[in-house]
Amino acid sequence: MDILIKNCRLLGSEKLFDVGIEDGRIKEIKEKANGRMNDKAREEIDAGGRLLTSSFFNMHFHLDTVFTAGQPRYNASGTLLEGIEIWEERKKSLTEKDVIERCEKAVEIFTLYGTTFIRTHADTTEKELTSLKALLKAKKLFGDLCDIQITAFPQDGILTQKENAELLEKAAELGADCIGMIPHNEYTREDGIDSIRIAFDIAQRHNKDVDGHVDETDDPDSKFLEVVAAETIKRSYQKRVIAGHTTAMGSYDNAYAFKLFGTLKKAEITIVSNPLVNANLQGRFDSYPKRRGLTRMKELLNSGINVCLGHDDMLDPWYPLGTGDMLQVLFMALHLAHFTSREELLNALDLITTNGAKALRLNDYGIAPGKKANLVLLNAKNEIDALRILGPPLLVIKEGRIVASTIDGPKIYRKGKPKEVELFTS
Ligand SMILES: [Zn+2]
Repeated sequence: MDILIKNCRLLGSEKLFDVGIEDGRIKEIKEKANGRMNDKAREEIDAGGRLLTSSFFNMHFHLDTVFTAGQPRYNASGTLLEGIEIWEERKKSLTEKDVIERCEKAVEIFTLYGTTFIRTHADTTEKELTSLKALLKAKKLFGDLCDIQITAFPQDGILTQKENAELLEKAAELGADCIGMIPHNEYTREDGIDSIRIAFDIAQRHNKDVDGHVDETDDPDSKFLEVVAAETIKRSYQKRVIAGHTTAMGSYDNAYAFKLFGTLKKAEITIVSNPLVNANLQGRFDSYPKRRGLTRMKELLNSGINVCLGHDDMLDPWYPLGTGDMLQVLFMALHLAHFTSREELLNALDLITTNGAKALRLNDYGIAPGKKANLVLLNAKNEIDALRILGPPLLVIKEGRIVASTIDGPKIYRKGKPKEVELFTS
């Protein structure tokens, strides 16, 4: 056996277990009361009763913009639109080296905090497609730490410039995993609808999933999600579509939202909420009362619609903070969505684990013999402490290899060698 984690707790149980890992997979799980696991392991870790969970999914992130806050200036209004303006200036000086270096630091930090899957967006409205080309390289370079999927993301809109649809198609040809959109950033409602159809056309031509930025605004009249859901149904694209943000839903009329939930359910769409960033960007045009600017996470889940979470941004034009800890994202989500009943808290980790796996249609996932060993040993002995104390975890395991540990200082492991992770920015 490669790794034996002794005396750990698993979600939903008070009992202690030993978990054995071999050849990248969970080999055996044995309840402590039934005696010790007999196999010798190359590495044995005593969890001391701490919680062992599946590793985390960051389902929406911008690895091309990370760590660019203040370049060339900080976002003074705190709005999405000023962020887009600042990025438009910054991206003129993008190089692949610049993107890859910032991406490496971000991936290392995410790994340290227990994330082993990142769905990133690559801005395709920059004519050289520098972000996309760099992130395609980063996906290979850092794949030992995190599985990375790339969405081709038309940041400035698909119909706002005549070459943008072509660039999006080119991104699909170059190897982007998913096709994105941003209908609320098109000039008109009609253009927004057309942009959704163009994104789906490209996705279908190249057999890619769809992953949109949808209705990221407090405008209650921004209703592109219904169009995304309708296209999904008409094109039989069920289970292959993610809609990120959907914050306008927080401002919809209840009767309209109720009808929309029915369509979303039929479309089997996953909603990705980004509570850190939307708590910052939304509500900026309100005085008081001030809206929370979040999608209807709790009601969506209660209607049987899959919801997961994204970190979205970190130290960039849209978010001047960020640790890279998906537990912190979850912490913010629980507060803003009033997801704090005992039962909701006990199941909260699903939002950054199981629900991500569901969105990606992974069936090799979970804590059971034979499943891929993608695991984190949290610095907590129960679910509530995990949500209070947050990260980083003691240990992160990706496909049976230890990729990060904080037992002896914050380190990641690449090709078996330790590397200190620099958490400070200056
Ligand atoms: Zn985003």
